[in-house]
Amino acid sequence: MGIIKRNLFGLLLLSEWCYQSQVTCENHCKGPEKWHEAKNECGLKKQSPINIVTKKTLPDERLTNFRFEKYQDTFSSSLKNNGHSVQVNLEHGPLISNGGLETKYKAMQFHFHWGKNGSAGSEHTVDGEQYPMELHIVHIKEKYSTVSEALGDPTGVAVLGFFYEESSSPNRKYDPIITSLKNIIKNGTSTPISDVSLASLILLEKNMTSYYRYSGSLTTPNCAESVVWTVFKHTIPLGKTQLSTFSTLKFSDGTPMVNTFRPVQPLYQRQVYRSGSCITLASVVLLTASLLVSVRLLLPS
Ligand SMILES: [Zn+2]
Repeated sequence: MGIIKRNLFGLLLLSEWCYQSQVTCENHCKGPEKWHEAKNECGLKKQSPINIVTKKTLPDERLTNFRFEKYQDTFSSSLKNNGHSVQVNLEHGPLISNGGLETKYKAMQFHFHWGKNGSAGSEHTVDGEQYPMELHIVHIKEKYSTVSEALGDPTGVAVLGFFYEESSSPNRKYDPIITSLKNIIKNGTSTPISDVSLASLILLEKNMTSYYRYSGSLTTPNCAESVVWTVFKHTIPLGKTQLSTFSTLKFSDGTPMVNTFRPVQPLYQRQVYRSGSCITLASVVLLTASLLVSVRLLLPS
């Protein structure tokens, strides 16, 4: 009986995934390089995150501005340490549409990925640059009720990804979340949060017109390839102490919850698109203006 129990326990440990920062001689959990051994999809060819090489992105005029519904509404929910991250489930049905999406998607949850005391910790990188933290707002097509149901559809899930950047002063809009982190140090604990809106946590709408789009996957097992990814170019500011506070949390194995990101995955045959025909328009205006100046300089006065 004892042997059976031990073997079962061993099997459970083997199948458990973890981040690279958790892999030690004592802890034989499966780090990112071995996720595919437990979940096939983690080894397929449309995986996330990726490094976005900006000069290889293609402009796509279909990538219009997003329409946000209920993003301004304040909500009450709970902030949970789920053993891998900090997650907030959303019940009030915020919606996104346009932005090149084929239909409306509703927000189900958001969570974060971070480094160690404010060091590099984002999942996506841009031209090789890794930001200190990344926010993922996970949406599913309006017709589905759960994320697992949406994962059966190759475009069932739409994730909005935002980078953070260290700022010299704290971002007071994050106080409700940051001050609650001390209540959820341990795996499986949660604490209520209220008076927060999604709009208060992200960028101003005028700063959400520049983004990257590609087809990818969830960045944790089972790594389902059902995600329409949007990664915004502009960053959300957060103070150094605020960034570091995330590192006070503990993983399910009791070690500091740090470097909670999957390394970037090969792009293979995929194309990354970019929005922002406005940028092109601005360039055209600038070019025309400089040409006019040049012509004037050449003309005899
Ligand atoms: Zn994520």
